[in-house]
Amino acid sequence: MKRIPEPFRIKMVEPIRMTTLEDRQKALQDAGYNPFLLRSEDVYIDLLTDSGTGAMSDRQWAGLMMGDESYAGSRNFYNVENKVKELFGYEHTIPVHQGRGAEQVLFPCLIQRCGSDKPVFISNYHFDTTAAHVELNGAKAINVLTPAALDTMAYHDWKGNFNIPALEQTIAENGAENVAAIIITVTCNSSGGQPISMENIRTVSGIARQHGIPVVIDSARFCENAFFIKQREAGYADKSIKEIIFEMYSYGDMLTMSAKKDPMVNIGGLLCFKDDQELFQEARTRCVPLEGFVTYGGLAGRDMEALAIGLEEGTDEDFLNYRIGQVAYLGERLREAGVPIQYPTGGHAVFVDARLMLPHIPGDQFPAHALANELYLEAGVRGVEIGSLLLGRDPVTGEQKPSELELLRLTIPRRVYTNDHMDYIADALIAVYQRRDQIKGLTFDYEPPVLRHFTARLRLVA
Ligand SMILES: *Cc1c(COP(=O)(O)O)cnc(C)c1O
Repeated sequence: MKRIPEPFRIKMVEPIRMTTLEDRQKALQDAGYNPFLLRSEDVYIDLLTDSGTGAMSDRQWAGLMMGDESYAGSRNFYNVENKVKELFGYEHTIPVHQGRGAEQVLFPCLIQRCGSDKPVFISNYHFDTTAAHVELNGAKAINVLTPAALDTMAYHDWKGNFNIPALEQTIAENGAENVAAIIITVTCNSSGGQPISMENIRTVSGIARQHGIPVVIDSARFCENAFFIKQREAGYADKSIKEIIFEMYSYGDMLTMSAKKDPMVNIGGLLCFKDDQELFQEARTRCVPLEGFVTYGGLAGRDMEALAIGLEEGTDEDFLNYRIGQVAYLGERLREAGVPIQYPTGGHAVFVDARLMLPHIPGDQFPAHALANELYLEAGVRGVEIGSLLLGRDPVTGEQKPSELELLRLTIPRRVYTNDHMDYIADALIAVYQRRDQIKGLTFDYEPPVLRHFTARLRLVA
C-alpha cells in the first residue's frame, strides 16, 4: 500500500525518549500492569487517544497571540460563531470547555422539553461520556448500531450506520413521546471510528422528523466522516468536503462537539443550534453556572481563536487524505502479517481484535489489555483496551459483563507521528503477534468499584 507523504513540514520538534526493555519492565510493574498509570515520559509513541493530542499548526499558534481575553463578547467568539455558520449553517453557538461540557448543558434541556418521566436517547452508539450524561440525568441510552460492525473481519463501507429497523422498533416500543433525542455520532467512535453514510443520516433524520424527535449530531470527527462519504458514497465524489459537511448538518437540529478531535485543538468544544431559539436560550442559561459566560464557556479567548482556525484546517481534503491514509497504512501492514483488525480501518484508529489473536485468554483475563501491555514492553508503544476491563461488572450480580468485542485501540494523534512511526508500530505489533501463544492473561491486585480501567492494578495469571 502506498504511503501518502505528510502534507506539512516540521518547524518545531518535541523530543521523545526511547527506553530499554528493562526500563519498560520496571515502569509497567510500577504502573500495576496498567498503561493508564504510566508516566508519559516512559512512553515512546503514545496511542492512548486522539483527543487533545493533535499538533496545532503555525496559524493556530499565531492565533493564540490574537486572543481577546474580554470576559464578554470576545472577538474570538465571533470568529468561531461565523465559522460554525459557514460550515454547518447553524445560527447559534455556545463554546464549551470540551465535548462533555456540551452534553451536561444540553441533555437536561432536552429531557425537560420532552416532558416524559421515562425519557430515552437513541444513538448509533453513545460515546461513554455521552451515555454517562444521559444516565446521570435519569434517562436511558439505547444503541442501535448496524450488526455489520461486530464482524471485524468482514469489509463493510458503513460500520457506523444505524440499524434502521432497530431504530424504528425502539421508537415504537418506547413511544416517540418518550424519546428525548436521537444522537447521530459521526464517525462512530465506539465501533472503531467507522463512518455513517449520508443516506443513513438522511433516513434517520426523516424518521426523527416524522415523529417530532430532535436530532443531535455528536460531531467529534465530522471531517473524517465527510471524507469517507466522498470516497465511498455514490454521488459525492465530485462534491467538496465542505459541501458534504453542510449537507450532513442540514439533517440535524443541533450539534455537540469535542473540538479536541478533528478541529485539532488541545482543549475546546461546541454546542450549536440550527434555529431553535428557545432551546438555545435555555442552554445559555445553564451554560453560565456550569461552563462560564456564554461567549467563552470555559475557554480562553486564545483557545477560541485556535478553534476557529482548526475548524477550517480540519476540512482540508489533502490533509484528510493523508490522515485517513496513514491510519489505513498501519492497518494494512498489520493485516498483511495476519494480525486480525477491525476492517476496513476507520478514521482515527486501528482496532486489533484481541479475542481472535489471543483465543487462549478468556474475557475475564482481559486479552486486549494483555496485548496492550505486551506492545508496551516490546516497543514503548501505548495503546488502550476497549473490552471487558472497560465494560466492568454487572452492578446487580457482580459478574463480569460479557463484552461483544475485545479490542486493542491504537489511536493516531493528528499531525504528530510520521509514517516511519507507523512502520515502527507495525513491526513491534507483528513481533508480539509472532509470540502470541506465550502471552498470559491478567487478574486484579486492586479493582476500583467504578471506572476501574483508569486506576486498576493487575498481575499476570500464573
Ligand atoms: C471525545 C468524544 C466525546 C466527549 O468529548 P470530550 O471532549 O472528551 O469531553 C463525545 N462524543 C464523541 C463521539 C467523542 O469522540
